[in-house]
Amino acid sequence: MRELRPKIVERRLRLEAAAGSVSADYINGLLAEIDAALEKIDTGCYGLCETCHDPIEEDRLERNPLVRFCLAHLNAKEQRAHEQDLELATQIQTRLLPARDLAIGGWVTHYRYEPAGVVGGDYCEVVPARDGRSLFFAVGDVAGKGVAASLLMAHLSAILRSLLSLDLPLTEVISRANRLFCESTPATHYATLAAGRTTEGGVDLCNAGHCMPVLLRRDGTDRIEATGLPLGLFCDDCYTVRHIRLDPGDSLVLYSDGITEAQDSQGNTYEEERLIHSLCGHAERDAIAVADSVLQDVARFRDTIPPQDDMTLLIVRRQR
Ligand SMILES: [Zn+2]
Repeated sequence: MRELRPKIVERRLRLEAAAGSVSADYINGLLAEIDAALEKIDTGCYGLCETCHDPIEEDRLERNPLVRFCLAHLNAKEQRAHEQDLELATQIQTRLLPARDLAIGGWVTHYRYEPAGVVGGDYCEVVPARDGRSLFFAVGDVAGKGVAASLLMAHLSAILRSLLSLDLPLTEVISRANRLFCESTPATHYATLAAGRTTEGGVDLCNAGHCMPVLLRRDGTDRIEATGLPLGLFCDDCYTVRHIRLDPGDSLVLYSDGITEAQDSQGNTYEEERLIHSLCGHAERDAIAVADSVLQDVARFRDTIPPQDDMTLLIVRRQR
């Protein structure tokens, strides 16, 4: 919490500088709030709810370092404002999701996006290229949870969509996205991303520190290892692209760690092995059936334990 102090002091200075433009009462009220927060930092009770003394939700403190109560102890007006914020964030996020079941140039896609809360920090994208013959697709996961993560996800989505309109090679899209993400977010913010583009006989794939996509063939599976670090860590990181052949009927399965790290009541995690096992039994079926069977298996595994993290599953299949 100590590292917050300079930020809050800076806030105080900016407020004092703006004092001439608003009423003195208003400014004094805000200054008192800031001083109360500084005092809490010094006495070690910063970030604790004033009613129940439990820690306040981290993502809320990150957005507003002056919040004083946990979500359970907001007054009616604050509660309403919070609900409106969430509703708006959900609307924004829903609009960012790609079209359902896009099919282009002999490829079909199907995705499932299941945030653990009202909004998620997973990223899922499927966009047709401007030539109308190939598809760009991606699954990512931004650090953090809740509204803060969903805003960062929206930011990543905006960066990638604007880069995609430039018709750049895939390595260039990812390297530039990394630079822009580095330059526009704090060093603690990063995102993993597996992104690809369909080609004549397969896909080009770039994996920036994301869970390994699975290539699902009639006679087995392959895992595709990462080719770079997550976006947002090092500005001048280089990314390489691997070409993966897919025969008609083969699928590439991208997912987020909300699936492989799903927990059961004993604290066991679902793991990649079980995902691959679940996929193997359905290689012959269509993308919707494969997605159904995986998510049903995860739900069976979790049993009564609610999801702890967002789950995203994207299947890119070469048509027969
Ligand atoms: Zn509380």
